Amino acid sequence: MTTHLKDLLDQLSGDADWVGLREHAEITCLRTARNGNAYSNSTDRDKGIMVEVLVDGQFAYAGTTDITRAGVQRCYDRAAGLAALANRYNLHKFDDTARPAGSGGYRSAVARPLDEITPAEVQESLIDITSRLKISDKIIETQASALITRLQVNFVSSNGADWSQEFSIITRDFAATAQGNGDFQRRSLGMEGRQWGAEALDVSVMADDIARVAEQALELLDAEECPTGQFDTLLMPDQLYLQVHESVGHPLELDRILGDERNYAGWSFVSPEDFGSLQYGSPLLNISFDPGLAGEMATYRFDDTGVAAEKHFLIRNGLLVRGIGGIESQQRSALPGVSSSRACSWNRPPIDRMGNINIEPGDSSYEDMLAAMDRGIIMHTNRSWSIDDYRNKFQFGCEYAQQVENGRITKTLKNPNYRGITTPFWNKLAMVGDLASREIWGSPYCGKGEPNQAIRVGHAVPACLFRNLDVFGGA
Ligand SMILES: [Zn+2]
Repeated sequence: MTTHLKDLLDQLSGDADWVGLREHAEITCLRTARNGNAYSNSTDRDKGIMVEVLVDGQFAYAGTTDITRAGVQRCYDRAAGLAALANRYNLHKFDDTARPAGSGGYRSAVARPLDEITPAEVQESLIDITSRLKISDKIIETQASALITRLQVNFVSSNGADWSQEFSIITRDFAATAQGNGDFQRRSLGMEGRQWGAEALDVSVMADDIARVAEQALELLDAEECPTGQFDTLLMPDQLYLQVHESVGHPLELDRILGDERNYAGWSFVSPEDFGSLQYGSPLLNISFDPGLAGEMATYRFDDTGVAAEKHFLIRNGLLVRGIGGIESQQRSALPGVSSSRACSWNRPPIDRMGNINIEPGDSSYEDMLAAMDRGIIMHTNRSWSIDDYRNKFQFGCEYAQQVENGRITKTLKNPNYRGITTPFWNKLAMVGDLASREIWGSPYCGKGEPNQAIRVGHAVPACLFRNLDVFGGA
């Protein structure tokens, strides 16, 4: 996979202290269906090489789609020139320990490779889903989509790095919109992104979920409004994953804490002194960076600086212990981090990103958590979110909720929302679901960086019970 890159590397002339070549080749196809018909179909192809150099302690880079020897040499010369310019404003002198010489390969674990399904079969599956969702005249619109990505990343460097990674990624979703009783309600699967193959588009496996989504869309038309007040709240994985993303993942990014992102995606309420001392959540909260859990969006063997991927706890027994920062931010800040320098393409540099940020399962079954609620609410599937630049105050809305009285589900509720402040919220965590309640969710659209980078993130989380959340309806 990397022979051609090694040849290009060997042929470069110049006097950089270190050189790396990262090749990124991606084909992403988005197909959608609507109301029993094909609706859209587009394919993006992207291939190029980023040349990264280290000159006198300063990293710089340039990317090109001209992957000839001359094209890559021009790119190298440009990167070396930029390193000299940037060095006038150098923040930290790096050496090649910031680019370890890993070698090896990775390939997504799939049941059925993507080339075993034809484009026509994908489209037929999506059309079939939209037809199955139409269970009533009150269902006025049905939609289904599949975002299918094949990605190959190859990396070689002058200090001996030589690795390849091959990813098979699908984000699927479907939804039904119902109208009646003077109301509209939309119920969806939720954006379900994972590393998997053609098995993700098997309609027969999804049949129960398709039926559930359609029935719940109708059910919401007759549901009561979610009440306002303080309630014990069971957040299901298809909501809780986004809560983790926004109120644990982003605030723990070391480049935010260092101030790099302040004028764009925001800052963080977390300060460097908080690591090792801030009680982020209740003692039941254990959050890990886990690039090794098969099937998640951001499972990999190396990050894009070549650091070998390893699992680490970010929050252990509620205590903040580690940030989400790659090797450069770790060296700049002298804080512990993880293998999370990631680039979305050949024309973007690696920056601090989330990978798989997971809540470790606890020991409570779903039934245990239900039984522990005298008067509570269960919320399913994210519908809306808002969080401030410091990642502190937030509110989330969900598609569907259930009222619990004396440990039993008694009715369906519509338009549920809750609000909170990050650390008080996580300190209200009272029960953590076991492995059986854990689900893998992930998004292809985490945005950050200037110029912008949209990257794929994974979140494996169990259902969790929180005491006395501020719940409100109507929004
Ligand atoms: Zn994000």
